[in-house]
Amino acid sequence: MTTYHSTRSRNESLTSKQAILEGIAHDGGLFVRDDVAAGAPSLGALMAGTYQDRAKLVLGHLLDDFTAEEITSCVDAAYGDNFDSPAVTPVSPCGDDWTLELWHGPTSAFKDVALQMLPQLMRVSRAGDGRNVMIVTATSGDTGKAALEGFADVPGTGVTVFYPHGKVSDVQRLQMATQRGNNVAVCAIEGNFDDAQTEVKRIFADAALRDRLGEENVVLSSANSINVGRLVPQVTYYFDAYAQLASAGALKVGDAIDFCVPTGNFGDVLAGYYAKLMGLPVRTLVVASNANDVLTDFIATGTYDRRRPFHKTISPSMDILVSSNLERLLFYLSEGDCDLVASLMADLAEKGAYTIPPALLERLHATFACGRSSDEDTRATIRSTWEEHGVLLDPHTAVARHVLEQRPADGTCRVVLSTASPYKFSADVLAALGHDTAGMGGFACMDALEELSHTTAPAALSALRSAPERFGDVVAVDGMNAYVEDKAKELLA
Ligand SMILES: *Cc1c(COP(=O)(O)O)cnc(C)c1O
Repeated sequence: MTTYHSTRSRNESLTSKQAILEGIAHDGGLFVRDDVAAGAPSLGALMAGTYQDRAKLVLGHLLDDFTAEEITSCVDAAYGDNFDSPAVTPVSPCGDDWTLELWHGPTSAFKDVALQMLPQLMRVSRAGDGRNVMIVTATSGDTGKAALEGFADVPGTGVTVFYPHGKVSDVQRLQMATQRGNNVAVCAIEGNFDDAQTEVKRIFADAALRDRLGEENVVLSSANSINVGRLVPQVTYYFDAYAQLASAGALKVGDAIDFCVPTGNFGDVLAGYYAKLMGLPVRTLVVASNANDVLTDFIATGTYDRRRPFHKTISPSMDILVSSNLERLLFYLSEGDCDLVASLMADLAEKGAYTIPPALLERLHATFACGRSSDEDTRATIRSTWEEHGVLLDPHTAVARHVLEQRPADGTCRVVLSTASPYKFSADVLAALGHDTAGMGGFACMDALEELSHTTAPAALSALRSAPERFGDVVAVDGMNAYVEDKAKELLA
């Protein structure tokens, strides 16, 4: 059986079940396993069957302490009619390129692919453990709702979600504020996503809080993309997209493929790297950023420098300056050099920046490319993609499409990961299409978008019109710790 350990040391050795429950290592590192390739199913095996079959193979490989029965029960529960496409993540054409639609789940963002699965993985991982789990999550907009929806009323669990006040879309805020369930709490914070994420990491590292909650029979865990249980399910759709393209005759099994990924916390694109390590013939992973282009600069230069202004953009789920999952990539690029990763992360914490050695940068460039899209570029791309191809893109997807369009095509299949339904960001999409949205509310924009595109908004988004708001709390960053403790006692004790 393979074990997981921290990116920053090999002191702890955990099964994947333990890693899923713990979320983050005690030294602040992320859980990784050393050899992702060893024992991986063959590409041929991964091309057969359905999405669910591929998910079982991927999960069975990366979470090898789960039994086949456990994996099957998780996959069957996670990927059923909660997705409004039988393909789960269908691929569709867009000009000469392709779009991988990852937003057919209950909250209309790609986070559902992982967050419909995570509660299942936790259910199995917790079996026999009488403690309750409080999921604590910082969200830039989409993770929070997807976590709430995944964990709502799951016995023995609670969810506390923190989002940056005033920095999510109307629909995103309403999705969270109207969440059903007796085990959930939603709170805005006075700060941005990075402030929320940094404080959540601190809460997990707070030994005194851990002890106090332990006395209440509660453990904290994370649904952020730092959790192994978030990362692993995302690997599946890279293989699945490739299989769909092979079935469509767009490529032959064995051909190279490029993916362009709208990136924030680096979880989605890292899953693509895992797929490559497991044998998918990925040539290039293009990391697309918005005006918060810390990753673009990092990939270009090898220096990660978070000391820069934070920009609020029309792709808010990517408004991030500290991309947590990049730490895992550094681990693999350095061939498992935990000391190096630990020292780079110490530099980031102390100085706000780090520079990777030249050999690492070279390995990074072997697979990764990058590009940025300003809000203006993003709007122009939404408009041109609609006018030229009749495809409606949300702003995050449009960031990636813009970046891909800047790169010369050479006949290799190119896939843009589409991470949200355009209806999640109706006002910005409508405005990008040239409409005057002044004075229009989020739902009027949704109506107008339906009329203009002859498509229908996802039912769950339309239903927000009449859903009562349940949550309106706002706290300062230094109030988050106490909020978590209160909610753990209130909801779980
Ligand atoms: C979360 C999110 C992203 C960024 O994904 P990461 O895994 O954080 O890089 C992009 N687009 C949308 C719509 C998202 O919700």
